[in-house]
Amino acid sequence: METPLLIFNENGIYCKEADVYLDPWHPVDRAIITHGHADHSRWGNKEYITHKNNVPIIKHRLGDIVVHGKEYNEKFVVNNVTFSLHPAGHIIGSSQVRVEHKGEVWVFSGDYKLEDDGISTPFEPVKCHTFITECTFGIPPFKWEPQEQVFKNINQWWANNREEGKTSVLFGYSLGKAQRLLKYLDTSIGKIYTHGAIENMTKILREQVQFPHTTLITRETKKKDLLGNIVLAPPSAHGSTWIRKMVPFVTASASGWMAFRGARRRRAVDKGFVLSDHCDWEELLTAIKSTGAEKIIATHGYTEIFSRYLREQGYDARTEQTQFEGEIDEVNSDKKEKEEL
Ligand SMILES: [Zn+2]
Repeated sequence: METPLLIFNENGIYCKEADVYLDPWHPVDRAIITHGHADHSRWGNKEYITHKNNVPIIKHRLGDIVVHGKEYNEKFVVNNVTFSLHPAGHIIGSSQVRVEHKGEVWVFSGDYKLEDDGISTPFEPVKCHTFITECTFGIPPFKWEPQEQVFKNINQWWANNREEGKTSVLFGYSLGKAQRLLKYLDTSIGKIYTHGAIENMTKILREQVQFPHTTLITRETKKKDLLGNIVLAPPSAHGSTWIRKMVPFVTASASGWMAFRGARRRRAVDKGFVLSDHCDWEELLTAIKSTGAEKIIATHGYTEIFSRYLREQGYDARTEQTQFEGEIDEVNSDKKEKEEL
């Protein structure tokens, strides 16, 4: 039997024919990178290929690397294998990777979502024979509300806190979630302050997207400056000494995991907003159908449940182990974002 076009080995998702890895978890010679989150773009590869909008992001995170930026839909050939990147709608510069060789087409989704967040280029289905999909939220209870409703709730929460003379502290990842929140905060309510990790990342992304004005919290920032305003902070800032300056404050987390009963209490936040940069259950099924693929490989998330369901629907579906983490559960996220504090 011929070797499949993409295989999963100890270093990552490997195209043997091209000698290229997709989002490798150990250092390799040549890596195609779907997006800038730490579990997909790791340090130590000799050469990186990624969407051009992701170039400034991974340079910020990984330092002095050799990286080539590509446009969406731009074909490039490595050792007779044709690659191209297609919008994944997950965060700015996020891509799916299409791999074609001798008429066979595979697509690796990386992380993705279908809802247009107004920041990243919206997801585009790509026809393929085999689709490698994440399934972070691949069980039926996950069903997202339209983002307009979520942002309305967030702004209402902020306005109420302001009336009570409190500072609102809203947690979200420094890359992706924080900018999505920032984009839709209602600046008629008050000022937006930021934690350093979020300020630095947003500064880089301001070259690509328009965001409201933010003020970095520094040593000089006074408690009275913050009162009634909103602070955007990475989850790792929760419980840190940094946050004490904000007293009296109320906290909230914006994450897909907030759909779980008890999630807010476990994370010791006052309020939870269900907002994810990943697909919910229905979106996953819609996306898979739209690729026309018969073979599905589920990587991270509820892989077993999800692939079993797909098999029941007639797909040739299986799971593969990866080191991708999906939407990191904030409880365990401290170590993940520490490098950015
Ligand atoms: Zn991601």
